[in-house]
Formats: sequence, C-alpha cells, structure tokens
Amino acid sequence: MDSFEYRNGQLFVEEMPVEKIAEAVGTPVYIYSKATILDHLRKIQTAYRELDTTICYSIKACGNIHILRLLAQAGSGFDIVSGGELYRARLAGADPVKIVFAGVGKTDREILEALEAGIGYFNIESEAELQNLIGLCKKHGKTARGALRVNPDIRYDSHRHITTGVKETKFGVDIDRARKVFDDYGHNGVVDLSAIHVHLGSGGKSIDPYVNYVKKVLPLVEELRSQGRRIDTLDLGGGYGADYESHTVPSAADYAAGIVPLVKAAGLKLILEPGKSIIANAAILLTRTIYKKIGGQKTFVIVDAGMNDLIRPCLYEAFHFIWPAVVPASLVPPGKQKELAFPGTEKVDIVGPICEGTDFFAKDRLLPPVKRGDLIAIFTAGAYGYTMASNYNARPLCAEVLVDGERFSVIRRRQTYEDLVAQEQIETPAKRC
Ligand SMILES: *Cc1c(COP(=O)(O)O)cnc(C)c1O
Repeated sequence: MDSFEYRNGQLFVEEMPVEKIAEAVGTPVYIYSKATILDHLRKIQTAYRELDTTICYSIKACGNIHILRLLAQAGSGFDIVSGGELYRARLAGADPVKIVFAGVGKTDREILEALEAGIGYFNIESEAELQNLIGLCKKHGKTARGALRVNPDIRYDSHRHITTGVKETKFGVDIDRARKVFDDYGHNGVVDLSAIHVHLGSGGKSIDPYVNYVKKVLPLVEELRSQGRRIDTLDLGGGYGADYESHTVPSAADYAAGIVPLVKAAGLKLILEPGKSIIANAAILLTRTIYKKIGGQKTFVIVDAGMNDLIRPCLYEAFHFIWPAVVPASLVPPGKQKELAFPGTEKVDIVGPICEGTDFFAKDRLLPPVKRGDLIAIFTAGAYGYTMASNYNARPLCAEVLVDGERFSVIRRRQTYEDLVAQEQIETPAKRC
C-alpha cells in the first residue's frame, strides 16, 4: 500500500496535502504515513501466520520513538544494534522478550544493559563475542539466549557496500566454523544457543537468495539436532525488498510462499527482522527548490534538503523517485519509474546546498519544469533516511511529521541553531594536582 498519491495534481499523504504540511512545518521535512507503516507490518504478519513468527522491526532503518510505539502496539518486536536503540525500544514500550540484539561490536556496557532488560536473543557474530557474553553472564548471574549468525555464502545482485551474506564479511561465521562454535560452546551453562541467524543484507529483487539461504542452513540445523542439540528457532534477518520503483520487488506474501513451507517442515519458530520493507515506502522527504541554475550543458535544481538529510543516493548510489509536489494534471506520474519520458519534462540534476560534489539526489533525471519556491517530493525516503542524517555544514536536523488520515503531528521538531551547539558548553579545564 502506498498512501502517497496525486489528487488533481496535488500530492497527498493519506488525506493531507503535503503543501499544507510544508506551510506549517517548513522544509525539508520527512512525512510518514501511519496507515502505510501499519499496513506493511500487517502484510508480513499475515504472510507468516502459519508459523510461530516474531517480527522484529529493525530500528536502524528508522528509529523515531513515535513510529516504534505504533509498531510495538501492533505487535512488533525490535531488532537493535546498539544500547541507544535498546533505549529507544524501551521508551516506545517494546516487549523486551521480542528484542533481538545484532551487531559485531557489542560493548560490555551494551551487553549488560540488554541482559538487565531481559531481551529475547543475542545474535552472536563471533566466538570472541560469545566468550565475552558467557563471561558476563557468569559474572553477573544472568542467563541469555543466543542465535549464532551464520554466513550462508550466497552472492546476489546488489550494491557492494550492502552485501553481507558472503564469506568475506565482518558479519557472522561461516557454516564450517558454526559447527565448531557449537562443539566448543554448545554446553556453557548460561547462554542457550538454540537459534541460527542469517541476514542477507539488502537489495535482492527476487526471492531466490532468501529461499537458497534457508536451504543452506537447514542441513546445519538437522546436523546439530542429530547431535542432540535443541535448535528451535531460525532468525532470517531483514533485507526484504522495498518498492523504490513501483512493483519491482517481491511482496511479503511472495517471500513467505518460498520460505514458510521449508521452515514449517523443519519445525522451527521464525524471527524476521524487516527494516526497509516496512518503513521505506512509508515516507517522503519534502524539499523546496531554492534556485535553478544552468551550468554548461546541465541544468541544476538546487533544493533545501542535502546529503546530510538523506545520504542514500550519495552513499549507495540509491535510486529515489523524485517529482514536484504540485503538477498539472497531465504530469501526474503513473508510478515510481526510473525513466518517465513525459512530454514537457526536462533533464536536470537535483542537488543539495552542501559544499560537496557528492551532494545530489538524482543526476540526468527527467522532471517537469520547476521554479524557485516549488516543492519537490523525494519518495521512498523512510528507511535509512532520518537515521543517517547529520549536522554536516552546521545544518539543523530537519523535522519529522506523522500523518494519520486528515491529521498530522510533528513527531520530531526541527533543530534550532541553539541545538547545534547545546553539547558544546565550555568546561573549566581540569587541573593536574
Ligand atoms: C540492517 C539489518 C536489518 C534490516 O535490514 P533491511 O534491509 O532494512 O530490512 C535486519 N537485520 C540485521 C541484522 C541488520 O543489520
């Protein structure tokens, strides 16, 4: 579902024209749709309901506590990768048992906080981490459940920076090593290693890699079980496709059709860690045109959002569909497509105001003519958008707005200049005594 549609040439989020939000809150602004977020979660819940499934939304995709609260109330758990994300999850009222903690560099402090909170699983990325977790549990009289992260060594078509399920990555251990980890640490008395975790990173456009990695780890599960170990849960991570272009990725039901029969036959419980498949399509970044500039053969549309607000195009060469928020009826886009050769469009680079050549949102993109002051929507901006934003160039972080039908609320106010320097009070230098 996509609650972002043009009505009479005006972009609406649910029942709100985005122009109204820009007038009230200013730009740039992230605008989320509550209905879309909940719809995406529900579709996953429905697709996997045949199994005992825990959905752990990945907070690093978008961590605003108001959004986390919505998801928690709708039954979602959370995938966290830091103590800060644990803090956010708990503020949002998460059920600690439905929290899984991933990440290759968990510190003692973060581990202790998670043990104290009583989270569901530690996703173990290395022997060193497991040893440390066992040590901390023994020292503090705690027990925990662990899911060993295994690399199924599957290659697929994606950007080189976001491929994680192959042997040569810092994430997890390969299958041979996994056997040894169970041999060495299977009976440690405090960390119950009863789950296997795999995560493919992001980007695949077919269900095949996901089905293949399930097929690759199930024999390991069988082998471990034949040695008398109890493995009852498979955590399949995240990385499921999101519609950056309309209808180009499998739906939750498509993935489930391939995955559910395999997991069911193995008698395993399932954990899923979707991030962008829930939130990417649930937001736009709305920005205003500051200037239009002709440079040589090129036309630049300079907008008031920058790579500090949305870094995906610069970091991953990611595609975002971009279109003016108000257009003549004849220029309403039929969907989010890489090439929309409407009559009357012009080829432009859409760039931000930051002093970096990489500060762009799109290059050589066909866009209806825009002029100074026009609003432009950058679509599918909900995932790894706000969470990766920074204050680079001393730019205050922009606002976040959540639309619910005919209403909207500011779920994070725009930063002020004072906010920019608030942590920089000058302290009296400590004297040596
Ligand atoms: C980032 C991440 C996710 C979420 O990935 P998406 O591509 O946003 O679905 C899930 N699990 C782990 C371990 C991750 O690192």
